[in-house]
Amino acid sequence: MIGLVAATAAGSAAAQRLADAWPGRTRRYDEGPVRTAVARAFADCDQLVCFLATGAAVRLLAPLLRGKAADPGVVCVDEAGRFAVALLGGHGGGANDLAAEVADLLGDGCTPVVTTATDAVGIPGLDSVGWPVEGAVAAVTRTVLDGGPVALRADATWPLPALPPHVGVRGVATDVRLYVTDRRLPLAAREAVLRPPSLVVGVGASRGAGADEVLGLVLDALDGAGLSPRSVAALATVDAKAGEPGLLAAADRLGVPLRTFPAAELAAVDVPTPSAAPLAAVGTPSVAEAAALTAAGPGAELLVRKRKSAPADRPAMATCAVARRRPRGRLAVVGLGPGARDLLTPRARTELRRASVVVGLDQYVAQIRDLLRPGTRVLASGLGAEEERARTAVAEARAGHAVALVGSGDAGVYAMASPALAEAGADIDVAGVPGVTAALAAAALLGAPLGHDHVSVSLSDLHTPWEVIERRVRAAAEADLVVTFYNPRSRARRRQLPEALALLAKHREPGTPVGVVRNASRPGEHVLLTTLAELDPETVDMMTVVTVGNSATREIAGRMVTPRGYRWQT
Ligand code: SAH
Repeated sequence: MIGLVAATAAGSAAAQRLADAWPGRTRRYDEGPVRTAVARAFADCDQLVCFLATGAAVRLLAPLLRGKAADPGVVCVDEAGRFAVALLGGHGGGANDLAAEVADLLGDGCTPVVTTATDAVGIPGLDSVGWPVEGAVAAVTRTVLDGGPVALRADATWPLPALPPHVGVRGVATDVRLYVTDRRLPLAAREAVLRPPSLVVGVGASRGAGADEVLGLVLDALDGAGLSPRSVAALATVDAKAGEPGLLAAADRLGVPLRTFPAAELAAVDVPTPSAAPLAAVGTPSVAEAAALTAAGPGAELLVRKRKSAPADRPAMATCAVARRRPRGRLAVVGLGPGARDLLTPRARTELRRASVVVGLDQYVAQIRDLLRPGTRVLASGLGAEEERARTAVAEARAGHAVALVGSGDAGVYAMASPALAEAGADIDVAGVPGVTAALAAAALLGAPLGHDHVSVSLSDLHTPWEVIERRVRAAAEADLVVTFYNPRSRARRRQLPEALALLAKHREPGTPVGVVRNASRPGEHVLLTTLAELDPETVDMMTVVTVGNSATREIAGRMVTPRGYRWQT
């Protein structure tokens, strides 16, 4: 039960929003003096949300405190609803999570504030990896935070977030150990184990097989092989059994999805124990082994061959087999936006903190270095060397790591995503995070130049013949498209921009608005609104984009506006 304590009208209104959103989970305490309201809520509830200043809350709570294990988690929300502060019981009392939930619900820019060590220092708590964890979690976490040595025993390279350098330190004796494995193992007093999602259990079932029979067989098979059920990532079977209630219920009880595959696909898998029965029934000589291997993907290893359930009183109705996936590394291709921190998306931030390796041009890495977790391996390199950066990022992911390949703006726009994905195979997971590209950052500064159809053209003829670029600019000119030039001019490339503008001028008035934006949203930001006839190329360099309007683009009150195309009055 969450107690909601409010003393003002604004507090009551906000409390009511939480009460409406969480029916049955909350109880209101707005009657009588706030001191007694807090005391009653503290005694009755597992968690409190107090719409009070933190100072007031601290004074009211202080006499009530009993101890970390017993006290409820407390979140304070200020009068304006700007902050949800986890005041007490961040981890144990769940106040950190509650603060996030409250902030989410109140919306309108309400920020959760969390000050407990793992979250604030940027060290991932063991539970934040998102994998099941067992054993002495508190002891290991505390040692991680205190900077003490922690031995790391991973049975493969898993795409974990960066861990601080004293975790996995070599040559130092310690009894604090963190295992990363799907194997069952006896844990000593100061040891914990993270369970990677490494196992897939293939299952076959006759119609009507019971969930208990399926689940019992699966757990027995894992136990016999010394494997933990908490590392099971999925159950897998043939399409024909997709709706089999016993399989669905077993998957549900394990908390994993049931994945299914066509019989023809399973029939093509080379398995140790094919048999005639499933061939006749569903069209593949193997269900359990073939589905386990297929779901586990390339490089999978069959750990437990097909076995049958063994009910005492009737024929077996279920089969299972267990495969281990080869660990898959993860490549996040992350656009950092044009520069300003508030144009970096929350998703980009999450990916940067999810990574243990960050690859990028040194100036971009410098832009986000403070956001990386301690222990993140940074592979920064200078200008050029694009192909090499792409290769490095993919190789690190292939080795099993969680890699973030970063680039300015959007990483897919004239940037690293294409060389990286040209290099990447199906053996790694790839996640793309879009970023605010220079054309958009510049457009927002100029006004609304992209209100109708538009294109981007890079004037760099380093990798593209100039004839090709010319042809595209001519086509854009003829089609009356708004054009944004990237890489418009460098010390070595001076004639390209005037030539491109001359091509546009054949189809547009000399007075056509042109926006020149240098260092959009970065220090040295400069915005110039001029015209096709008056543009001085000297105002343009490699830090600049140039946006040329179409025949309807106008300057209005100093802003560049391209009409949507309807109801336009001249
Ligand atoms: N991936 C980047 C573009 C890389 S190409 C993006 O999506 O923005 C490099 C060119 O982008 C530069 O020569 C310049 O023309 C443009 N550019 C990148 N950032 C810029 C910024 N903040 N302001 C103006 N132009 C920028």
